This record gives sequence, C-alpha cells and structure tokens, in this order.
Amino acid sequence: MAALSGVAYVDGAYVPIAEAKISVLDWGFLHSDATYDVVHVWKGRFFRLDEHIDRFLASAARLHLTLPVERDALARILAECTRRSGYEDAYVEMILTRGVSPTFSRDPRDAENRLICFAIPFGWILRPEQRERGLSLAVSDIQRIPPQSVDPRVKNYHWLDFVMGLYEAYERGAATVVLQDASGNITEGPGFNVFIVNGRSIATPDRGVLEGITRRSAIEIAREHGLQVQVRPIPTAALLAADEAFATSTAGGIMPITVVDQAPIAGGQVGDVTRLLIQSYWDKHVDPDWSTSVVDILSA
Ligand code: PLP
Repeated sequence: MAALSGVAYVDGAYVPIAEAKISVLDWGFLHSDATYDVVHVWKGRFFRLDEHIDRFLASAARLHLTLPVERDALARILAECTRRSGYEDAYVEMILTRGVSPTFSRDPRDAENRLICFAIPFGWILRPEQRERGLSLAVSDIQRIPPQSVDPRVKNYHWLDFVMGLYEAYERGAATVVLQDASGNITEGPGFNVFIVNGRSIATPDRGVLEGITRRSAIEIAREHGLQVQVRPIPTAALLAADEAFATSTAGGIMPITVVDQAPIAGGQVGDVTRLLIQSYWDKHVDPDWSTSVVDILSA
C-alpha cells in the first residue's frame, strides 16, 4: 500500500506527514489528554472553517488548554498545510495536546501545550462507490462513555468504547457501530452523528453527543427546505422503525444509513429526504457564506 502523503505542522515547522512526530512523554499520547477538530477542504475551499475553529477554541478552553497561536494564525497554518499538501480535497486536522511537562511532573499545569496540524487526502467514512448502498450499522450494547465523565461536546480521543464497538459490529457483519446511553437512547458512532427521518421531519439526539458541524449543517439545510427538525432523545426502537436514517460527519458529509442490526431501513434504499439533504449539502461547498478559499486565507 502506498504511504499516505500530506503535510503537518509540528513544533512550529512544516514537515512531510511521515516525519511528523511527538514525544512519547506528551500527555496527549499517555493520557488521551488532548482536543482536536477536523475540517475539510473541498475543491480548494474550507467548509465552515470558522465553526470548526470556534468549536476547537471552546474545547481547548473547557480543558484548560492554551493555544500557542492566535486564531488568524491558526487558520493560516491550516491553509498552509493544505497548500503544501497539494490536495484540492483534503482532511485537515488541528490538535492541541497537554504536551510534555519538563520534569515529568504529575501536575497538568506544568505541561507545555502543543499544537499539531496536518492536511492529508480527503477521507470518507463511506467510500463514493458505497454511497448508494449506504451504511450498515450495528447498535452496540457497549454504553457510550457518560457525558458526566467525559463531555462529548469537547471533541476528544476517548475512543475505546467506539473501537470495541467496531469489533462487535464487524462480528455482526456491519460496517460500523452506534452506541447507546444508559437509558437505551442512540448516541453517536465513531466519527459521526445520527439522524432519523419520518415523513417531513428529521430528528437527532439532543445529548451525549458531539455537536457535529455536519449535524448543524444538516439541521440548517433541512430548515431551508421547510422540514421540521427535532433535537431530542432517540430511543433505539425509533431508529429501527424510521422511514429513513442518515449519519453526518466531516469525513464524508451526509451519508445514508440503509441497514441497522441487519434489518433494512427505507427498504435498504437511499430515501428521498436523505438524497435531498446530501445534494444541498454538497451545493453549499461553493457558497461563500459556507466556505472559504484556501488561497484567500493565505493572501489575506
Ligand atoms: N461524533 C463524533 C464522536 C465525532 O468524532 C465526529 C467527528 O469526528 C462527529 C460526531 C461528527 O462531527 P463533525 O460533523 O463536526 O465532523
């Protein structure tokens, strides 16, 4: 398999992705003590960059992390990684780790926070050839880490519940997984939010989930189309009984869910509402209210 190419920014320097390295003493590595965000670039334009940076800064503040650069400088670093990568369609990640404490002290306040950014080729949860088939989900019995323990609105790398859930999904013949909360409501999956559709109404969980930027986009686009939007608990039974279902993620946009626990949703087809939202979502990628050119950021 060809090595992944891309460009990273680590400790103030741009390097090929294969050479981007951090200390094994970084709290980010040792304790998953970090936050991150992922934005995508499509045809040379960042999609909703401001919203991603807002969420990243809010997550950092919640975790008592300090970004070593100003907001504008961060945007330029992300744009510069993308420009150097040469990709028109890119997956662009920003990470802030607790960093290393010079004396290996146990006090997180002693650590020097570290910013890492990188741009690699656009990554799909659902590859283009799979889009018509849609996602096959398993609903895991593994409970999502409770929001009282780790706030899922702070984008984080506490993924052992998801990773164990993925193995369970593979054993059950599904491509990916969605976890439930303690009350048996749907939460989210590894890298995506979930929606159900019933008639002209869409619904997505209100709690225990990352407030995805693609989730927000789906909500705004649905309202533009006059659909009703509900943000409320979704019992697993409601997912199984929905007219349609879809997942949302920066890594792939709005993606149909056509199978849940081996039973077809919407007859195993991509439903009309899902199809409409997918079309509008990609149309927004050239709308200057929703996207910013990489070149414009660098020349500002
Ligand atoms: N939920 C989780 C746990 C995620 O990690 C992600 C993205 O990585 C999402 C939802 C979707 O968020 P967004 O639409 O901002 O990519």
